[in-house]
Amino acid sequence: MKKNLVLLGPPGAGKGTLAQRLASEHGLLHLSTGDVLRDEVARATALGQRAKDYMDRGELVPDELILSMVKERVEGRSGILFDGFPRTLAQAEGLEKIAPIDAVIFLEVDKDTAVKRLSARRICPKCGAVYNLVTQPPKEDERCDRCGTKLIQRDDDKPEVIARRFEVYMRQSAPLARYYEEKGLLIRIDAGRSPEEVYAAALRALRDDRP
Ligand code: AMP
Repeated sequence: MKKNLVLLGPPGAGKGTLAQRLASEHGLLHLSTGDVLRDEVARATALGQRAKDYMDRGELVPDELILSMVKERVEGRSGILFDGFPRTLAQAEGLEKIAPIDAVIFLEVDKDTAVKRLSARRICPKCGAVYNLVTQPPKEDERCDRCGTKLIQRDDDKPEVIARRFEVYMRQSAPLARYYEEKGLLIRIDAGRSPEEVYAAALRALRDDRP
């Protein structure tokens, strides 16, 4: 599968979970702008220092920073799975100049389900693995199955920031579904289901979508 794909959906829709599996089983480059930014923040780079306040507030990092960060990583490559990008119309338009997009998977989920998932989410700060304390707990008490590191809760998964991220999503990112629908690229998936069901549905849709 050497397509360029975009994963769209609100926080808590399961974009990262689906992306990790799709990327590893189909040889795609998983580009999560959130993961890249968290890494930049952890390493206190110039970009990380500029991005941190926006992220802590649950707001979007300015488009020009995001676009140059993405461009640097994908130029000349194909088979990229964009996760959490684009998030604004300006980013979507910028992306058209960086890489052609073959399909956009829109993970649809209601707000209650998404908020429950975000509150129970824990991540491994070392390898990036994602867990859910209720539906996908680690084998050993809050430690990563892959590397044994103590799991953490993302600062922006705390309740007050979750609410803000949702508002930002509705205002700035939700219109992207329409944008890609008009281009005939949008694939809607009911993401209120288990990760296995969502993965199977996404694969089916991508196969059916093949020209
Ligand atoms: P995520 O891991 O995708 O939920 O992203 C975490 C945070 O990183 C977001 O709340 C934003 O502050 C920032 N971020 C990630 N991707 C983008 C993007 N494409 N545009 C602007 N900000 C972003």
